[in-house]
Amino acid sequence: MSESSNIIELKHITKSFEDGFVAVSDFNLEVKRGEFVTFLGPSGCGKTTTLRMIAGFDRPTSGEILLNGKDISHLPPNLRPINTVFQRYALFPHMNIYENIAFGLKQKKTPKDIIRNKVKKVLQLVDLEGFESRSVSTLSGGQQQRVAIARALVNEPEILLLDEPLGALDLKMRKEMQLELKNMHKELGITFIYVTHDQEEALTMSDKIVVMSEGKIQQIGTPEGIYNEPENAFVADFIGESNIFNGIMTGHLKARFAGGQFETVDDYPEGTQITAVVRPEDIQITKPGEGQITGKVTDVIFKGMHYEITVQSGRYELVIQSTKSAEPGSSIGMKVEPDGIHIMIAAEHTNYFNVDMNRDQMLEFNGSVLDTKVENIIKGSRRNADNQLVASNGELIDPEKIHIIAAIEPSDIQMSDNVEDCLVQGIISDLIYMGDHYSYVINTDIGQDFIVDDEYLWNMGDLVGLVLPIDKMRFTVKK
Ligand code: ADP
Ligand code: MG
Repeated sequence: MSESSNIIELKHITKSFEDGFVAVSDFNLEVKRGEFVTFLGPSGCGKTTTLRMIAGFDRPTSGEILLNGKDISHLPPNLRPINTVFQRYALFPHMNIYENIAFGLKQKKTPKDIIRNKVKKVLQLVDLEGFESRSVSTLSGGQQQRVAIARALVNEPEILLLDEPLGALDLKMRKEMQLELKNMHKELGITFIYVTHDQEEALTMSDKIVVMSEGKIQQIGTPEGIYNEPENAFVADFIGESNIFNGIMTGHLKARFAGGQFETVDDYPEGTQITAVVRPEDIQITKPGEGQITGKVTDVIFKGMHYEITVQSGRYELVIQSTKSAEPGSSIGMKVEPDGIHIMIAAEHTNYFNVDMNRDQMLEFNGSVLDTKVENIIKGSRRNADNQLVASNGELIDPEKIHIIAAIEPSDIQMSDNVEDCLVQGIISDLIYMGDHYSYVINTDIGQDFIVDDEYLWNMGDLVGLVLPIDKMRFTVKK
């Protein structure tokens, strides 16, 4: 058998809890020795659960975890060459820094002089030389987290797991520590598995990113790969800011979306339904009429390095990043080069749309309240005695800070003549015969297209209402 360069492999890992909840589902991953791998996804998507299984604190319900090619599923945490750094520093307050770091080695009855040398070495590594006799309470948050990292590293693990280790630090400290962790990783040459819900952090630090949602891997790739070539609309939406449109291939290297005709570098057969992703920095501003589409500037915000310009173009809203500003209210043209357009086959043609939480903490979509319980959607939340929505830690949930994405399949939407009674309405702007049904593109009044499958033939240009059954919607919470 040849030596594998994978230090760890997860094979078909699934974890369901006693209450039947499936937190991780068919998770497959290979991690190379020395790699910096990041699990990225919204809160509750199963990152910590996966990490805990790697560390040995939790056992998978099914599947295998291989370390250097050997199954370690049943090995207890202390026998795995793996250490974990948690978000909360978890230092012993009654011990000084030296004792905190030396604790594990003392338990293992390591000789005193060896402990002394090792502690000195890791303190240097985390930039805290000479801090041995300081008490924990005199340290800043960032320094405490460094001690926690030193305490994990002193065991000389082959793999260091870091679960949102910078989450409790302020922005400036976080940026600093990101760089330091990256340097540490380089210097040590060991494998890091890092968890974060912050896409920027993941993009700047990782060799490989695993994007997760609802316990499933959405995509594995390099930061560039994930940013430039998202495999589905969830990844495109979660990573960076994107303009995402449903559309259709209209010919060889030609696609129609956002009300315009574009040349592309990705080619699919004419008639293929697609999802087109255009990054805000890839839209150039031209004179009106000179780009592929024209629109009216509705909002301009200066972001330090660039302007963020919001444009209404027909029924579509686009976000542009530009070093040049634009006049609110003015008309502009917009141009996108072929290599600025990323086209995915809309494999499932899933429709994604944003829903809001209103003041009464009910979900609202296009002016209608959805008959569903928010507390069933935000994991761990519940209503308190005053019927307010609170998180598992008891804190009130701020509707402003919650962003919910709903998904519904085209075959679960019905079209109706009864336009007024429907959640959304729109004009049929494209139809394609798919053999056993028609696939329609509906330009809706919420400013985005919906794809709807229907067995009946409607006409181009018809105004139709869309019936979106609430029990067919899937919700994802995004912070
Ligand atoms: P993340 O770290 O990505 O925020 P977690 O892995 O902590 O997510 O949790 C994933 C999901 O599993 C959440 O919905 C959480 O409520 C659920 N979960 C975690 N631990 C348990 C448990 N012991 N019993 C039941 N559900 C759990
Ligand atoms: Mg977590």
